[in-house]
Amino acid sequence: MAVLALQGDFEAHARALERLGAEAVEVRTAADLDGLGGLIIPGGESTTMLKLIGYNHLADDLAAFARRKPVFGTCAGAILLASEVSNPPQFSFGLVDMSIERNAYGRQLDSRVVHIPVRGLSGEPEMEAVFIRAPIIRRVGEGGKVLASYQGDPVLVDYGQYLIATFHPELSGDLRVHDLFLEKVRRLN
Ligand code: GLN
Repeated sequence: MAVLALQGDFEAHARALERLGAEAVEVRTAADLDGLGGLIIPGGESTTMLKLIGYNHLADDLAAFARRKPVFGTCAGAILLASEVSNPPQFSFGLVDMSIERNAYGRQLDSRVVHIPVRGLSGEPEMEAVFIRAPIIRRVGEGGKVLASYQGDPVLVDYGQYLIATFHPELSGDLRVHDLFLEKVRRLN
């Protein structure tokens, strides 16, 4: 499993995958993607991540990989995958039909840990969600199934090939979201 490792909290994703018995390959160049079954784009700062993708000449290969394989985008990663980005508008790969607004929870409460009901995962009916300068999904498009919401806004959405979280499951002990993604990768490869 590939984890985009240019910026942000990719190491926490790698640890979560390893705790589930999966191999985590840190991706910095196009060649690193060879032969991998899926990709996690972590949280961080989407503008910086885009710059680093540019410096590393990774954009075309990353997009080609993400068109064919399952991708899990968390927070900044979700922003990179969206078809429409606002506040402000910026380039995105447009692979997931959704509109997303950056830094949408405002300044005073820009980071928080909450417990939210979740569906489609076995075990506990609630899960911990860590939000850090998180975006809000303003529109879920074709094929999106909302698995969890917070304050009425979708925060975990399953798009079949793609999984989107506006929070950081890699920062909680609960591995169920990563497990769901690994299951997707096994099923779709
Ligand atoms: N605020 C960041 C952005 O707009 C995302 C924050 C995160 O990934 N935790 O890119």
